[in-house]
Amino acid sequence: MMAKEIQELQGDQSGDRDPETVYGISGSPGIVVGRVVVLRPRADDLVRYHLEKDVLEEEQKRFQQAVDQAEQELKDLRSKFDGDLSDTLTIIDSHIRMLRDPMIVGQTARLIEQQQINAEWALSRSLYLIKKKFDHIADEYIRDRFADVEYVTKLLWEQLSEHGQQFPTGFAEPVIVVSEDFTPADTVRMQSEKVLGFLTEKGGTTSHTAIVARSLGLPAVVGVENITQQCRTGDTIILDGYDGRVCLAPTIDQQHLYQEYDRQHQAFSKELHWYINLSSETLDGLQVRLSANIEIPKEIKQVTYYGADGIGLFRSEFGYFQQRHLPDEETLLGVYQDLVVALTPQPVTIRTLDAGGDKLASQLPGHRFKNLHERNPALGLRSIRLSLSEQPLFITQIRALLRASAFGKLRILLPLISILGELHQVQEIIGQVMLDLTNQGIPFDPAVEVGIMVEVPSAVVMADALAAEVDFFSIGTNDLIQYSLAIDRGNEYVAKMYDPLHPAILRMISQTVKAGHDQGIEVALCGEMAGDVFMAPVLLGLGLDELSMRPSAIPHVKRLLRHSTSRRLNGLAKEILKCSDGKETRALLEKYIAKNYGLQQLIK
Ligand code: PEP
Ligand code: MG
Repeated sequence: MMAKEIQELQGDQSGDRDPETVYGISGSPGIVVGRVVVLRPRADDLVRYHLEKDVLEEEQKRFQQAVDQAEQELKDLRSKFDGDLSDTLTIIDSHIRMLRDPMIVGQTARLIEQQQINAEWALSRSLYLIKKKFDHIADEYIRDRFADVEYVTKLLWEQLSEHGQQFPTGFAEPVIVVSEDFTPADTVRMQSEKVLGFLTEKGGTTSHTAIVARSLGLPAVVGVENITQQCRTGDTIILDGYDGRVCLAPTIDQQHLYQEYDRQHQAFSKELHWYINLSSETLDGLQVRLSANIEIPKEIKQVTYYGADGIGLFRSEFGYFQQRHLPDEETLLGVYQDLVVALTPQPVTIRTLDAGGDKLASQLPGHRFKNLHERNPALGLRSIRLSLSEQPLFITQIRALLRASAFGKLRILLPLISILGELHQVQEIIGQVMLDLTNQGIPFDPAVEVGIMVEVPSAVVMADALAAEVDFFSIGTNDLIQYSLAIDRGNEYVAKMYDPLHPAILRMISQTVKAGHDQGIEVALCGEMAGDVFMAPVLLGLGLDELSMRPSAIPHVKRLLRHSTSRRLNGLAKEILKCSDGKETRALLEKYIAKNYGLQQLIK
């Protein structure tokens, strides 16, 4: 009941909110109650001065010295780490690389020369120019990388001037540190200082601050607007890293409640661990594959750690972004083969390039694609459409996929199929590539499974015809909801209407499952809702054969699955399919969960 009681105390997220509670993004789980230390931004009193030509060389030297010192500081920091914090090491390495990149350092040196200005000011001009470029990037992950540019810039400012505020040391009592943002050096110092958790204005779930917080095990909330102005050093606050919220002036009752909530969470996490090695089945023996969604090969560690039954979605496009060149066949083969070998005999489902839409094709190296300036990218030349219009690119990927299929159970997944003709075109290409490989004596699995993402309403309607021609379906609800309800999945103004439990969505899932099963193929679901334990009962009841989700959600969903019977789940789905609006489905689900699992204290 804890989450409910907390919501009542401070207003539900969908209802009236307690003005003393502010919301951000969950950066790292855990709850802490404590006093705050607010760190002010570092370089707000930056000065500009004009330089005479004859001192420019001197200024360049001073700047280069700052770059060398910053690099040395990062290297010293790096040497203090052991291998456990590999994510942190990767971040520090990327900052060292950034110091050698012409984007910041080269541009600043040029501005000193051209505009005859001091290094600090040239650096701030560079930051402004880089920011303008990043603002045009729609991809959230890549946009978040601007934070790294800012860290490196701040580090250089610190070296250049006396203005920088160093991370304070020697706190008298354990504190929650609040700042606009932190450098990696700050976050590392937090290890040895009395820091309970931290809170920032900047950042998202993929920002480095959040990544480091998770690896240090410190609760954190990131992306809280204006938080450095909203609290003062000495205030007591509650930081809820599970739900990304901060209680600014908590009552004693609230403090006790949150502490109890945290205790329950921790006990539950321990219990969940137990499920990692158990099979994914209901009490009456119905097996449902719980597999993992991943974006980069490094995540394979998490896939095995959380006991996934294979990879249900490898978003291959992330291997194309942020590269200098488009990856060649051998590079792709290396990545796919490693995944397949690591997981064999479990299946590895690799989706072909899903660029375009919110994953901007302008992020593909080369910037030579036709869809760079589309008026409506979500409805444009994205995903399979882009692959079919850039066939050499697509054929390279298909060759790599087929070659990797010789090493284990690889499945090819095609995104955004909206008409049968697209599937036929792909089949023709795959057939031709198989022929070429055979002629070249290169091994591949001729029975490799090819499936499609069902994520466009037309694919749902035509699911029977499509099912007759593919080996499996994977329902992509993230897009299916966007296209069916006409809600841009990244638009905060209509975010409340983006409802996975809208009866239209549940009926479409049901229809797709039925069409697939009628043709004897398996139907998976790999949208975000698959990893939401609140929605899992209805998805399981709708007869999906596989749910694919972020790896850490797997034990959670498995626990629920192992406490279920297929009869009860099917009964629930039947009832829910009669609902006519999302509120009704939600109410029914809440009742069902309370009655069958008693898990409501953990469900938001
Ligand atoms: C989806 O659309 O549900 C999906 C899993 O793919 P993506 O989020 O990568 O578009
Ligand atoms: Mg999609």
